[in-house]
Amino acid sequence: MNWMEKELELLADASLERSLRECSPVSESPGYTMRGDRKLLNLSSNDYLGLSQHPAIIEAMREVLLAEGAGSGASRLVTGNRVSYSRLEEALAEWQNREAALVFANGYMANSGVIGSLVSRGDVVFSDQLNHASIADGVILSRAEHARYRHNDMEHLRALLDKHRDRRRKLIVTDAVFSMDGDQAPLRELAALKREYGAMLMVDEAHSGGIYGKRGEGLCHELGLQEEVDIHMGTFSKSFGVYGAYVCGSRMLIRWLVNKARPLIYSTALPPTITAGVSAALALVQDEHWRRERLFAAGRSFRSLLGSSGFKIIAGDSPIVPVIVGDNDAALRFSGALESAGIAAVAIRPPTVPAGTARIRFSLSAVHTDKELTDAASQIRIIGQQLGVLSP
Ligand SMILES: *Cc1c(COP(=O)(O)O)cnc(C)c1O
Repeated sequence: MNWMEKELELLADASLERSLRECSPVSESPGYTMRGDRKLLNLSSNDYLGLSQHPAIIEAMREVLLAEGAGSGASRLVTGNRVSYSRLEEALAEWQNREAALVFANGYMANSGVIGSLVSRGDVVFSDQLNHASIADGVILSRAEHARYRHNDMEHLRALLDKHRDRRRKLIVTDAVFSMDGDQAPLRELAALKREYGAMLMVDEAHSGGIYGKRGEGLCHELGLQEEVDIHMGTFSKSFGVYGAYVCGSRMLIRWLVNKARPLIYSTALPPTITAGVSAALALVQDEHWRRERLFAAGRSFRSLLGSSGFKIIAGDSPIVPVIVGDNDAALRFSGALESAGIAAVAIRPPTVPAGTARIRFSLSAVHTDKELTDAASQIRIIGQQLGVLSP
């Protein structure tokens, strides 16, 4: 095992070592997190709608916990398929206006399982360079060729589609909103290319589900493109504030996945508490539109506060607002100084983001108030100047 110690030292020397730090929620104020005895404004959570501590969700989970117990005991295809699964999937299909839906244990397993079931050796997956790691891992597991196109570069994608025109199956896959940049995929152009080349289109709405659309259906609905998307995926771990993931599409697609998606077949069903909590969250996501309005308002004001301080901010309206620092060590120092100032904002470093683009990825929640964000932005400006990220 000597090699491991050496490799870990190299990681640490490059300011690239990661470690697990404890955080606990503050139940009365979901916009905060506790680190030890310090209460920090949480600008690194994906709890965009502030649902993770919602009493209706907790109550729904408690009831099912008492009625059905802890674990589900088996894979869904064996005896783990509780009634709460079917109820949730019916509600999901109705919400998304698709024929059918399928729940997975989490987004990582949904992406890796779905891609692994759709393509195999001899096929090709066209995937944005900045797509989530679970998509890249799905492609590797599938053994299909991985044709990565430059971020949002439709000319590059077209060139790759031309090159692989004669492959058996072609899958184009993209995040709807990119997790570390907060920008959107050009979904209209992607849908047009998919048609032109006879490819399948899969969209991951992990950071847009619950946020875009009149009932939080996601960016595809917001743009009226839901019919164009063959495989529509999202998670319950972010906006929904719970855990798990879904895939929506045709009845045939879901029937295929039940037969072929290995993470669904060979893994134990989620505990019924989780599916019950997600059902309660789905009702809130659909009905409480004020959470989306608040989130967009928070995003607008936070972006303009940081922008007027001199930070270069990627334009857009998503709750993800990254400040690119570049250097790994500088990003860590930025994050450390923010923590001393009462703000949890984690440094995101390679390989999560490309080398030389280490950043603080601020993410907002509907529960953050204007005052909290204004105060945070002025701390961020002061620290940015002290560290030389901003010219004074
Ligand atoms: C977080 C994320 C996932 C994984 O979802 P989990 O439910 O957390 O496993 C997949 N895709 C994207 C784009 C994500 O950001």
